[in-house]
Amino acid sequence: MKLECNFFAGSARILNEETITDVIKEKTREFGQEDPFFVMDVGDIVQKIKVWKLKLPRVKPFYAVKCNDHPTVLEILAALGTGFDCASKTEIQKILELGVDQSRIIFANPCKPASHLRLAAKLQVPLMTFDNETELHKISAYYPEAKLVIRIRVDAPDAQCPLGMKFGVLPADAGALLATAQTLGLNVVGVAFHVGSGCGDSTIYHEAISSAKMIFEEAEALGFSPHLLDIGGGFPGTSSSSLDEFAENINKALDEFFPEGCGVEVIAEPGRYVVASAFTLATNIIAKREVNDDAGSLTSVMYYINDGVYGSFNCILYDHQDVHPVMLQERNNKKPHFTSSIWGPTCDGLDQVVSKMSLPRLPCGEWLVWPDMGAYTLVSAGTFNGFPLPKVMVVIPHHTWLYLEEHLGNNVSMSFLGAQNEEECLAHDQHEAEGSAALTVNAASHYS
Ligand code: PLP
Repeated sequence: MKLECNFFAGSARILNEETITDVIKEKTREFGQEDPFFVMDVGDIVQKIKVWKLKLPRVKPFYAVKCNDHPTVLEILAALGTGFDCASKTEIQKILELGVDQSRIIFANPCKPASHLRLAAKLQVPLMTFDNETELHKISAYYPEAKLVIRIRVDAPDAQCPLGMKFGVLPADAGALLATAQTLGLNVVGVAFHVGSGCGDSTIYHEAISSAKMIFEEAEALGFSPHLLDIGGGFPGTSSSSLDEFAENINKALDEFFPEGCGVEVIAEPGRYVVASAFTLATNIIAKREVNDDAGSLTSVMYYINDGVYGSFNCILYDHQDVHPVMLQERNNKKPHFTSSIWGPTCDGLDQVVSKMSLPRLPCGEWLVWPDMGAYTLVSAGTFNGFPLPKVMVVIPHHTWLYLEEHLGNNVSMSFLGAQNEEECLAHDQHEAEGSAALTVNAASHYS
């Protein structure tokens, strides 16, 4: 029997002992199930936020919506009280519709269309970044009361997705930009940076925070009263990665340049960190081609699966991700392995997911599972050649449910058919009844 809870966005299955792999196996056994699908683990996101609070207690996360805007992700973060980094008016509207207060949004796109600025003004979302003079003139025209955060350029040399070539004023040029803001009578409240997404070397945050301190002093000298430091994104998010080293370097730099009690609020814009490991993708082998040498011996196998670089695996092209499949059915490792490649379902030769790996001989219909697929995947996927996007199945471990109930108090509730409380819901579970329960989360929660 499955116990479910409803988010605004849909229902979620509550897990007791089952693992994500169990859930995937069960789903693939359903009659006619052949389409690719995601399993999203709400517990993973809740755990990420818990770890963040523990390791970076002075830094409030403003989740970067661009990374994965699945409604349940946004809803659960709204309930946990995080802030949100929005890049456009659509993202701002999505967050406000959840009942999140404007003060929990930063419009963190330094080059905003005028219409989006006008909407930010109308919706009273004042906090926003800038990094160039044209933007200041635009802001002066459309939203002169905005609270401005100057984005400076500090680059991690080996970032998976560098951003500095597009955004951020060089620290040496920031003074002139601040002077323009002052001439226009604008209100600069802080300094931001983004060292690059998938930052490989966390020592860069020391340099970035040190540069930010310098810009704070320049802003103060011009008569501004900056009180917000935004340390951007760049944090790792896979299940095998750790926040420890990042937290250590950031906390050390904050203690040095912005010690506790200095009156500066510190925020960050994590995307990848929050969602990467919460999403697991399951794909099906829909076709295969065996390649033989002149003597007729098998040299390699080409597998075709039902999601590719035009779909969820666009992360290979746009986000420079390395993806690694796991076979859903365990196979005898002693059986011969062959050089194999994995391809997406479209008619384009570019649609290659894995160029070379060693696999046993697999039949059509076999399932391949791809962990850590939550960041920059679904959000930028298309339906080229008419292949639909995978559906997302949401699961929530029972212990996560209890945690939400304990920490969000009256802000969450679960009901099961006629049941009044959770014990009754679980009693139904034990009696193998069918039905759904409702989880109501309140976006008015405060992050603390
Ligand atoms: N903030 C801004 C302005 C970004 O452009 C990005 C990613 O491109 C993020 C935050 C999220 O970065 P990450 O996923 O590395 O945490």
